[in-house]
Amino acid sequence: MTESDSYERMEREDLEQIQVERLQATLNRACQNVAFYRDKYERLGIDISKVKSLADLAALPFTTKEDLRDNYPYGMFAVPLKDIVRIHSTSGTMGKPVVVGYTAGDIAIWTGLVARVLRGAGVTEHDLAQIAFNYSMSSAGLGLHYGAEKIGASVIPSSGESVAKQVAVMRDYKTTVLIGTPSYALHIASYLREMKIHPDELRLRAGLFGAESWSEAMRDEIEAGLHIKAYDNYGLTELIGPGVAFECLERDGLHVNEDHFIMEIVDPGTLEPARPGEEGELVFTTITKQGFPLIRYRTGDLSSLLPGDCPCGRKTARMKRVAGRVDDVIIIDGVNVSPSQIEEIVLKVEGLDPNYRIIVDREKGVDTIEVQAEISGDFPFFDEGAKVNALCRRLQASLDEGLGIRTKANLVERNTLERSEGSKLRRVVDKRPK
Ligand code: ZN
Repeated sequence: MTESDSYERMEREDLEQIQVERLQATLNRACQNVAFYRDKYERLGIDISKVKSLADLAALPFTTKEDLRDNYPYGMFAVPLKDIVRIHSTSGTMGKPVVVGYTAGDIAIWTGLVARVLRGAGVTEHDLAQIAFNYSMSSAGLGLHYGAEKIGASVIPSSGESVAKQVAVMRDYKTTVLIGTPSYALHIASYLREMKIHPDELRLRAGLFGAESWSEAMRDEIEAGLHIKAYDNYGLTELIGPGVAFECLERDGLHVNEDHFIMEIVDPGTLEPARPGEEGELVFTTITKQGFPLIRYRTGDLSSLLPGDCPCGRKTARMKRVAGRVDDVIIIDGVNVSPSQIEEIVLKVEGLDPNYRIIVDREKGVDTIEVQAEISGDFPFFDEGAKVNALCRRLQASLDEGLGIRTKANLVERNTLERSEGSKLRRVVDKRPK
């Protein structure tokens, strides 16, 4: 265990003391160096010297993605650019990207946090870690790269290669750990099936997947297709990148790196704290970052706090795996439906590939959901109308039963729906007029 990791086993009281001290330092720095915080707190009459406990944090306003976009590109930086050694950004598919900066100290902290993520999944210096994440502007690839090197694993940066090349590297270099998005892992699994390569021809034993929310059904599918144990980890570029929370070997919730992030869970409607165990929106405050501190950042991700201690010995709080996003929740006939519920259902229907799309639209003032799923390669009968119709009816019946609302099932031929090539994939297409 390294010195930094001893924080993970600290008693709650001691950990909270450290959190408060770090929070106060962060607030001072942010108000001194970032006009956004200084002006906003002044306008609202907030005196940061009054923040003396974690509970006092609730008196501060939230920071939203809109705030970050409004300050594009460098408005939220707390140090001069000469002290920034790395810049990453979000994809910006939903609007202006968010640009984040790291000092050399931030990179060192980040690397240590990602090393924790990897150690949590049992990765060691004996492993060969193949990183299929897109490196480019996104923080996922380089973040995991540095962390894996830190623990001494042999790192293979295979990002951007074709799936055929990824598999050839995996087989020839004897890769033991695959790192990427869960949808890309499924893509590799379906390629193996197609090429009739048995997963045991590979040395893969574990996979660390993140950057998308993925259901337990998808986990089962990945594990069966690649013969590995699959671990979830959580982070977002705005906060630091990967390294915010991770699954240990118990795989019962994700340990939050609370010595660097303060987690809150709020009701997304009222923005009041969610009751313990109740699902709500994750809100994080960074308490060690120098370049890009964030105070009460609303992530838009839904989760809840898990009760009790983890048998692994870490004492940090555990959050439930992210179940979806606040803006992804679809409300039809007054019933909340999350894409992960639909994913669970699609993955259980035999004859379908685990690649699907959810189209939300509005017809005559009524919201509608169409679920498009790909027919599996093990089911080569797309031209046989009767069989396809029967399969479609099976999917429809499963959706009707599982969701209790009206949906429309539709099947498409294999490889027609977009697949993830290592970066985020949006499975929900919302066509409703805004
Ligand atoms: Zn644990």
